Amino acid sequence: MEIHDLPVAGYERVVRARDPESGLHALVAIHDTTLGPSLGGMRMWPYASESEAMTDVLRLARGMTFKSAVAHTGLGGGKSVVIGDPKAVKSEKLFLAMGRVVDSLGGRYITAEDVNIGIDDLEIVRRSTRWVSGLAREDGGSGNPSPYTAYGVYLGIRAACGRQFDNDELRSRHVAVQGVGAVGSALVERLVKAGARVTVADAREDRVRALAEKLGVATARVDEIVAVPCDVFAPCALGAVIDDRTIGTLRCKVIAGAANNVLHEPRHGRQLFERGVLYAPDYVINAGGIINVSAEFAAGGYVEAEALRRIERIPEALRQVWSISNDEKIPASDAADRLAMNIVAEAKARPAATKAATASPRPGHFAG
Ligand code: NAD
Repeated sequence: MEIHDLPVAGYERVVRARDPESGLHALVAIHDTTLGPSLGGMRMWPYASESEAMTDVLRLARGMTFKSAVAHTGLGGGKSVVIGDPKAVKSEKLFLAMGRVVDSLGGRYITAEDVNIGIDDLEIVRRSTRWVSGLAREDGGSGNPSPYTAYGVYLGIRAACGRQFDNDELRSRHVAVQGVGAVGSALVERLVKAGARVTVADAREDRVRALAEKLGVATARVDEIVAVPCDVFAPCALGAVIDDRTIGTLRCKVIAGAANNVLHEPRHGRQLFERGVLYAPDYVINAGGIINVSAEFAAGGYVEAEALRRIERIPEALRQVWSISNDEKIPASDAADRLAMNIVAEAKARPAATKAATASPRPGHFAG
């Protein structure tokens, strides 16, 4: 196994790992550990080149720093990518080798699930490193993050309604949900329970039908949902749904959902701002999952009630973002970045003794 450091400005550490025996070719980026050890998922993707993988891992690691900072998880930002087609490269040897790469970083990077990497894969990774999070409850982890993400999004939607309509009651609101997978379906259950009128769409017809039958929600076609007249549009499927084509078709006053990278480009955030559409920045409103995972690092181990208590602070974070947006006349998406950067900068400026209290990894119950 060869592990090489690749100096990248603005990142604490970036390594390339190659293991001819297992075929592993991976990059790990530790963006910032000022607030705590870096945590971010392990993604597997058939990148066309290492430089494409590098662009992705750097962007994602920085995104994790911002997300964790605003969510006050006590963690920093990092990410790893394994280059390859999951159907072709997944093997026990490869994940054991990847575990050794993670282990070589001494706890400064903690891995988790991401695109094409599931719990089964992480179970293998954990055999060579303790620095794995988000495993099943029976394995001492915090379990499936999706219901926690959904809870945070639900609270965020209420906060957004409070801000935009001066009333966070959902009884008179209509929410259009794009994507009813793990997060979207749990969100719809909560919205319906709170009395909201809900319209759903999903590329999987069976999921739409099941929800319509169970909860009596209205349905829309996949290509119509963005343009459904509603109070809140909740993207819970793909990224980049707000683009040049869709932005002019929106008929909502709030955009608040679970999907990552909702805005195709930053300028779309500005356009929403100018049109008076209140945007709940993706990484602020969808932080419930990472908050739940971060609760694994509490001194006494994972306690669900504590995780929920912390998720209930998401509305407060959103209100802070919207205040900055309002005061500085900048889009909410930019305001969130500014808030995150300020939180990290303030922690960096704190005396070393204060920082040490939050910067040491607390593996607690880890099996490794
Ligand atoms: P999922 O795969 O369980 O569900 C996504 C759903 O979107 C699927 O049912 C899929 O059929 C549907 N979909 C795909 N393309 C669509 C389209 N064009 N129109 C309508 N529906 C479409 O994923 P998930 O875990 O529910 O996550 C949803 C989103 O939230 C993703 O963007 C994810 O990155 C983000 N997110 C999830 C979590 C989490 O805890 N799971 C945390 C943070 C962010």
